[in-house]
Amino acid sequence: MDREVLVVGAGPTGLALALHAHAHGAEVRIVDRRVEPRPSRALVMHPRTLEQFRPLDLVDVLRRRALDEPQALVHLGSRTVRVRLDDLRVGDGPLGHPWMVRQRDVEDVLADALHQRGVRVERGAALEDLAVGRDGARALLRGPSGEERVTARWVAGCDGIEGAVRLLAGIPVVSRAYRQEVLLADVDLSGDLEAGVAHVVAASRGLVFVFALGERAPWRVLATRGANDTGRQGPPDRDELQQLLDASGLAVRVDRVAWSDRLRLARRLAARYRRGPVVLAGDAAHSHSPAAAQGMNLGLQDAAALGWRLALADSARRPGVLLDSYEEERRPVARASITLTDLVFWAESSPTGVAALLRGVLAPLAAPLAPALLRRPALTAPTLRLLAGLWVQHRHSPVSRDDLPGHRGLRPGDRLPDSEVVTEHGPVRLHDLTARPGIHVLLARNARDVPPSTLGPRVHVHRLRDRPGTTLVAVRPDGYLGYRGTDPVHLRAWLGDTGALDRAVGVARATR
Ligand SMILES: Cc1cc2nc3c(=O)[nH]c(=O)nc-3n(C[C@H](O)[C@H](O)[C@H](O)COP(=O)(O)OP(=O)(O)OC[C@H]3O[C@@H](n4cnc5c(N)ncnc54)[C@H](O)[C@@H]3O)c2cc1C
Repeated sequence: MDREVLVVGAGPTGLALALHAHAHGAEVRIVDRRVEPRPSRALVMHPRTLEQFRPLDLVDVLRRRALDEPQALVHLGSRTVRVRLDDLRVGDGPLGHPWMVRQRDVEDVLADALHQRGVRVERGAALEDLAVGRDGARALLRGPSGEERVTARWVAGCDGIEGAVRLLAGIPVVSRAYRQEVLLADVDLSGDLEAGVAHVVAASRGLVFVFALGERAPWRVLATRGANDTGRQGPPDRDELQQLLDASGLAVRVDRVAWSDRLRLARRLAARYRRGPVVLAGDAAHSHSPAAAQGMNLGLQDAAALGWRLALADSARRPGVLLDSYEEERRPVARASITLTDLVFWAESSPTGVAALLRGVLAPLAAPLAPALLRRPALTAPTLRLLAGLWVQHRHSPVSRDDLPGHRGLRPGDRLPDSEVVTEHGPVRLHDLTARPGIHVLLARNARDVPPSTLGPRVHVHRLRDRPGTTLVAVRPDGYLGYRGTDPVHLRAWLGDTGALDRAVGVARATR
């Protein structure tokens, strides 16, 4: 085998997957057919995605690339409503609100982190063929120095909606095109537009976003339209963008178009996420409209769920079960996101009927109530939790094991919340305690001892002095509880299922 994991595609999903797999001990190679990354699409990152970067130590560097005090000005007819994203708190930790950060910045941060760990992103290298075997795959890459045949134990298809991996692995996809199209442009604007904030206009023909996050010019315009509205094709020019902004009611002039694009989108879901050694993640497995800012976040969360599994699978008692549990957990999340984004996309962009009435008439009428409504967490929190992916739990996953069924409290499959606990070193936040790659075992005050030396380097054990009782729980690398019980022998069995037990330690114990 040339490499344990070959990651095809260095978009956000592939880069994050390479980092997570590497952090858990895999030898990784990552290739992308593009010489230069694509202009950003995603601009919003949700708290659940951010907290999964903590074990990779990337939150601070991402924060430096994100907008400080992000705000949106929502234009509803003649009224405007200011929304401070910092106020939209959801979740329990310090990362409890959405961030505005360009996809390109996220990709740069992840690529730099790989580089620092000795993994080079090989740009200009495309996957052209793939043969799937029982114990690995053979891939044909074409790069700057010609053809290369490589073998890999696992191939991760993170190659986006037009990716070759899914096709070559023979995994079908269900796909349906939207009737709307998306216009994107980086522009210089002059006129009456508050700087540094995102403007959202609820126009009767669809929402128009103007973000202070352009890449090739200060402003990024994003708008959705019925695909046959104008009959135009190709990147929108200055006139079309000016008409769009005029119709939205924003009093601005397009002075220059630095870059633009027109996208026809489809919702897609791969029929399965794995065939033998080939696994799909991110847009290669699922895609949908940009409404509700879900796609990149989903891909990054897929990467957190898959990275440790690929790295540990061959040490697991049943590698197939461990890897298939990735699909069993993540595919329903993608399906739910498709439903959610379809609904939001319809409300955002349907040019007729109820959606147009909502945007054009009802929303402006409700505008005076909006600030008071936004200040009520009881009203905003459920929506934000939905958007942030904080609703996701994996209680029925084959890798969730509960030896204390019926007991109250957190159960295997639940996300580990962030709260203060006390260890032998004093008070600490749970998410700080677990901000290291690997599996974290949390022992209640009177739980039986689990000597870390019997578990190996991928398992970290912490005793929580302020938590009464005898329970021990294991937290997976992606932040979900995997095991709950009281018996260290059962904990070891669960660790063996996940491949986290050090093989050398496991064999030494088994032969005793
Ligand atoms: C207008 C718009 C706005 C969006 N806004 C948001 C948002 O705010 N928040 C959010 O979460 N999501 C958003 N999204 C979605 C987000 O951009 C995508 O979900 C995200 O890019 C998916 O990342 P990925 O790494 O899975 O795939 P991609 O970003 O598509 O990366 C795939 C990579 O694979 C490479 N590749 C393809 N084929 C091969 C091959 N044969 N060999 C080697 N390499 C290959 C490509 O060059 C590419 O670099 C938006 C999307 C659009 C269109």
